[in-house]
Parts: sequence; C-alpha cells; structure tokens
Amino acid sequence: MTPIDCDVMVAGGGMAGTVAALAAARQGATTLLFERHGFLGGAATAGAVGQFVGWETRAGRRAVGGIAAEIVARLEAMGGSSGHGHFIMSTGHRMDRVEYDTEVLKVVLDTMCAEAGVRVLFHCQLAEVARRGRVVSSARLLTKGGLLEVRPRVAVDASGDLDLMARAGAPFLGLDEGETLQPATMMFRMGPIDFRAFDGMDAATKAAIAARGVAAGTLPRAALHCSRVPGSDDGWFNVTRVAIDAADPFALSEGEREGRRQALAAARFITAEVPGCRDARLVSFAPQLGIRETRRIAGLYTLTGADLRRSAEFPDTVALGAYPIDVHHATGAAITFEELGPDTAYALPYRIALPQGLDNALVAGRGLSATHEAHGAIRVMPTAMAMSHAVGIAAALVAAGNLPAPAIDPATLRERLRAGGAML
Ligand SMILES: Cc1cc2nc3c(=O)[nH]c(=O)nc-3n(C[C@H](O)[C@H](O)[C@H](O)COP(=O)(O)OP(=O)(O)OC[C@H]3O[C@@H](n4cnc5c(N)ncnc54)[C@H](O)[C@@H]3O)c2cc1C
Repeated sequence: MTPIDCDVMVAGGGMAGTVAALAAARQGATTLLFERHGFLGGAATAGAVGQFVGWETRAGRRAVGGIAAEIVARLEAMGGSSGHGHFIMSTGHRMDRVEYDTEVLKVVLDTMCAEAGVRVLFHCQLAEVARRGRVVSSARLLTKGGLLEVRPRVAVDASGDLDLMARAGAPFLGLDEGETLQPATMMFRMGPIDFRAFDGMDAATKAAIAARGVAAGTLPRAALHCSRVPGSDDGWFNVTRVAIDAADPFALSEGEREGRRQALAAARFITAEVPGCRDARLVSFAPQLGIRETRRIAGLYTLTGADLRRSAEFPDTVALGAYPIDVHHATGAAITFEELGPDTAYALPYRIALPQGLDNALVAGRGLSATHEAHGAIRVMPTAMAMSHAVGIAAALVAAGNLPAPAIDPATLRERLRAGGAML
C-alpha cells in the first residue's frame, strides 16, 4: 500500500485519542486516527462504561469543558444522554455523572470526526514503529488491505496500553511496593430493570445485598454499581473484577473469558436478589473487557497523589481534573476512594504528556505520566478528554512549527484551549 504522510497520527480511538484527533484537526493539522475496532470510544463504547464521572468539584464547580462538553451536548441533542446528574457511589459518596447511550456515542464521535476532517482508519492495528534518534519516523499499521506505512510529523499514543510508545522503546513508570495494577472489568447490560425500585434502595440495603453476593462468590466487587442506558429500562453493571496485566496478550485473552464467566454469574445473582431486577436478564456483555490500568509513560513530569491533594500549581497547566483518587484492588472486593477538598480541582501540567527521550511524540489518556495513585484520579474520561484537548492542540503546533514537543509555549496552548471552551 502507498505510504501516507500526515501532520498528526493518533494511535487509538478511545475518548482520549478521538478528542486529541479532533483538537489537532481543528487547528488545521492533517490528522490520521487509527483504531483496531470498527467504532470510536474505547472503554466508553467497547468497554461499555456507560457514564462520564468527575466533571466538577464536590462544591459543584465545573472543571471540564471544551470538546468534552461538546460531546455531552451532542449526545443530549441526539437523545443519547439526559445530561449532568448525580448518584450515590457504593462508597456512600455523592458523585456527578453523565450517563450516555454507548451506541449514540459512537455516532456522535463519527460525526464530529467527519466534520473536523479527521481521517479515521478502523480495523487497523499498530504493527511496528520506526525511530530515528529522538524522533518517531514512521509506523506500520496492519489494515484490512495489508501493511500500511504512515510517516507522521507528530505521533500521539492514545492506545491506552501505550503500544506505540512500547514499540518505540520509550521508558515507563513502575509500581511501588505493595501496588498492583487496577483490575479489569467485564461490563454487562441487563434489562428490563424497575429503576424506581432499584434506585429506591438505600445505601445500607445495597451494601448488605452486595456483601451477600461477595460472600456467595457471585459478586467479585462489593457494589451494585449500575449506569442506566438513557431512555431505556436497561443498565450497565460494573461489578466484575479480573486481575490481569492486559498488555500481555495471553493474560488479556484469559481475562475476556474470566470476565464473561463472572458477568453471567453476577447477572443471575442480580436477577434473584436485587430489588427491581426480578424481570431483568443479561442482554449483552461489553464488546471487550474494560481495562483500567496498564502502562504509564515516564514523562518529563510525573503527577503524584500529593500534587492532587495540595492542588499543586504548574507553569504549564493545560487541564483541570476534579475526580477523587479511586483505586480498585486486584484482590478482594474493595476500592480505595479518597475524596479531595470540598472544592478541589487539581492541575494537569503539559509535561505529563511528554515521553522522556522523544521529541515528536505525545501521550493522551490513561497512560499519562502519573503515579499509580494519581492515575487512579485522572484516568476518568472527563479529565482524560480535557487533557487530550490540550495534547491535540499541542501536536498540531509541534507539526506546524517543526518544533520539539517540549518547546511548545504553554501560554499559547492555554489561549487556544480557552478559545475552544476549555476550563483552566
Ligand atoms: C470498567 C471500567 C469502569 C470505569 N468507570 C468509569 C466511569 O464510571 N466514568 C469515567 O469517566 N471513567 C471510568 N473509567 C475510566 C475510563 O473509562 C478510562 O480510563 C478511559 O476511558 C481511558 O480512555 P483512553 O482513551 O485513554 O483509553 P481506551 O479507552 O482504552 O482507548 C484506547 C483505544 O485504543 C485502541 N487500541 C489499543 N491498542 C491498539 C493498537 N495496538 N492498535 C490500534 N488501536 C489500539 C483501543 O481499541 C481503544 O479504542 C472506567 C474504566 C473501566 C475499565
């Protein structure tokens, strides 16, 4: 196949990659976004997460706008979401969220990419990466038509697992003593649910039923966490837990099997035991296991839990986040959930998107340079989208100016982000 040249190549069309590609294309960069599935959204659609959480501080101050807010507005306009709301988590905390229909989201993202002129290549896997010194010079992609060589000016790795960075030989962060990768989850859809009865359960009742499920070995996670599919009586349940390193292809394959096994058992428990679910049956598994954590890049700065707790300020802040530290444990049924201050929004510096040792590469999404703990907060989709908005603009500036990515002036980035409705 004839090689393709482009300004910005984005690997992976999850929420991070899609937003980064949109932002780059809107700056005038020729942008190629490739994705192994036949649709965009990543964990949001293929993983069927079903809700965006962490838009605002506990006091209700909004921290995320820009392209992320546009996506919500489009979803609402197409009947794929009823917009911003709140719910009580299994930990008892009140959390803001936007529930969405995964199928409508796919169309929203298709439409926005088409409008912005992003060239999207579906059913396309990263095969190899060539590097010349500090520069990613080309990537070979496995497509339906064979191997395709892409020669980008700038490469953005938004593959979640950072496959592009791994193949380029970039350095990664490790886990500290006692830390393990967050487990994966097979989401599953059930319906019809009587949501008046389901939502009418108080926290103590929910917790007691979940504890029974855990004791019986049918609920891996001590929660009855469900996001409703807008406009329907179906909900996506987030209660399974698979401890794997999803960057290992064999472990990932085993994890898909184990996730479905757990989901079916959990669905039967829910039908039998949970108020409002007597008539509910398993409708579908998510198309793929939802992956919370794999590789994290060693960037020019590494965001820490301490930075979030004290709302550290940075000279190169390009996005804000408000979601607390939320770490699911690989063993046991619990999570560690640490709320930050009542009105805490924390800053994300540009440098957490910049891999050490590479001049024309950026990272977007859950592989940003953050400790395991800080990753537990910034991994949620509104924050990932806010940061990806910045990464996309930066990638376009790097391509246009033929500059190393660290040379981009954060003030210019912030100016363009504000022009695009971002909150800083
Ligand atoms: C079970 C679960 C529940 C969660 N709950 C919430 C929640 O309630 N609210 C919230 O906001 N966040 C939640 N999160 C976190 C959030 O969904 C993710 O952290 C976020 O979506 C990550 O986005 P991303 O674009 O970085 O990565 P991903 O969504 O993983 O996207 C990566 C994309 O790259 C593609 N890709 C990967 N490798 C390749 C390759 N080699 N070649 C081509 N394409 C490739 C993938 O197919 C995928 O589309 C949850 C996550 C999980 C797993």
